[in-house]
Amino acid sequence: MQYRNDKKGNPISLIGYGCMRFTKKGGAIDFEKAEKEVLRGIELGINYYDTAYAYGGSEECLGKILANNNCRDKVNIATKLPQYLVKNAGQIDKFFNEELRRLQTDYIDYYLMHMFTDVKNWDNLKELGILDWIENKKKSGAIKNIGFSYHGDTDMFIKILDSYDWDFCQIQYNYVDEHTQAGRRGLEAAAAKGIPVVIMEPLRGGKLVNLLPDSAKKLIKNNAHGWSSAEWGLRWLWNQPEVTCVLSGMNSLEMVEENARIASDVKAGELTEDDFKVYEEIKRIIGEKEKVGCTGCAYCMPCSHGVDIPATFLCYNKMYSESKSEGRFEYARNIGMREKPGFATLCVGCGLCEKHCPQHIPIREKLKEANKALRPLPYRVATSFLRKFTIH
Ligand code: SF4
Ligand code: SF4
Repeated sequence: MQYRNDKKGNPISLIGYGCMRFTKKGGAIDFEKAEKEVLRGIELGINYYDTAYAYGGSEECLGKILANNNCRDKVNIATKLPQYLVKNAGQIDKFFNEELRRLQTDYIDYYLMHMFTDVKNWDNLKELGILDWIENKKKSGAIKNIGFSYHGDTDMFIKILDSYDWDFCQIQYNYVDEHTQAGRRGLEAAAAKGIPVVIMEPLRGGKLVNLLPDSAKKLIKNNAHGWSSAEWGLRWLWNQPEVTCVLSGMNSLEMVEENARIASDVKAGELTEDDFKVYEEIKRIIGEKEKVGCTGCAYCMPCSHGVDIPATFLCYNKMYSESKSEGRFEYARNIGMREKPGFATLCVGCGLCEKHCPQHIPIREKLKEANKALRPLPYRVATSFLRKFTIH
């Protein structure tokens, strides 16, 4: 494993363990499976574990794994204050204490303000006294480093960077999103201030692997490097020395081992002009196919009317990146055959989901478009026929 330093010179592994995508079984996290994967990560030198108050069951699971195996001191925990839920000063402490309890620890190594999109988010917290609160927590050792995760545009990101002496930050960044959100300009601005940058969505929620169009997959397969699609995504990031740590939502031993292998042999600045031409070509192919720039982060969920927004967009994009029938079939099976289907037609247009979407997707409009494409008459008839006979 290779490491890059945080602001105080402490090593952070190039690959960080994203604990948002632990495998679920019967609606709950499969603890035994997650435990094996996290322990393998620790064994391979991964020392950064990212979770959040809002990742249902993730903090509890990580806390239990570390406590049961007596390895809290081998890892850094990064977790997040759900700042968008904080309405008064007392709630800051309430959320934090709840997180300590869930994680079975008395300190957090890297504490983030979750999902800033505007400097106003930070101003609101300052009005509630967060600056004194941080100072006290740092003094007592309950928080070692303070940062924020971000989903707005580049100029706003730089405003937030300049508004406080941050220890680190977390941004969405990958070879397709090079110039959206904080983007390359934001990354370089943070690095210029000596602020370590943790990367989320390095593979756009897996889409740069699973939903690559066939022609892009072929391009990767035929390339002399022999790298996988994931490897292309990760190497692009680590090629930039300004990137400190890349989070990967790992949920198989193979994934943990593969990511650790790449993070052990990659070098900043090693990509060639020919490699960059491959990235450009992949981006061109993706741009031609994609219908909605949804990363599957699920920040828009739950919809109070039961629409499964990310799954709808996933299937919609699949229609164009794989095949129409594949996308429609998956939609009918995964959304339509649940006890309570999550079809886009349930949308009443309240717009609440759009306020939470870091990609600023006009969700209501796109749902209508997706529904039309995903459910032509034969599929609607077939789904209701099947439901009649299989759902009781
Ligand atoms: S706009 Fe539609 S999808 Fe979004 S929260 Fe409201 S009902 Fe749900
Ligand atoms: S619509 Fe937006 S918030 Fe919802 S899953 Fe997609 S990117 Fe995330």
